[in-house]
Amino acid sequence: MIKGSCLCGDIRFETAAAPQGASMCHCNQCRKQSGGVWSSAFVPDAELTITGDVGWYYASELAKRGSCPRCGSFLFWKAHDEDTTSFALGAVDGPTGLTLTKHIFTASKGDYYDIADGLPQKD
Ligand SMILES: [Zn+2]
Repeated sequence: MIKGSCLCGDIRFETAAAPQGASMCHCNQCRKQSGGVWSSAFVPDAELTITGDVGWYYASELAKRGSCPRCGSFLFWKAHDEDTTSFALGAVDGPTGLTLTKHIFTASKGDYYDIADGLPQKD
């Protein structure tokens, strides 16, 4: 079981599913919303329990982004046409038990760091 929350605790989530696709996203939207790189993994919507009133921002035709209206933690990313939701690995309490599989949108990454872990990178 993975459990997590936003910084203030108003939003909580948990899943018993095995999260897939653990990755770090370097896209402009994740940079802006997280302040840097956003790490996430996804589970089926039906297996993710969210409590609290998530503030959903319809960021694009592609997806919406969920954060806490009070403390601002960026917790969720959800494509409009998929039945999965990505959750922030950094918001998980305790060990995630996961290992990153890739970096995505690396063409948009900041110029103040290098990616040197040897994982696959997708532009
Ligand atoms: Zn909060």
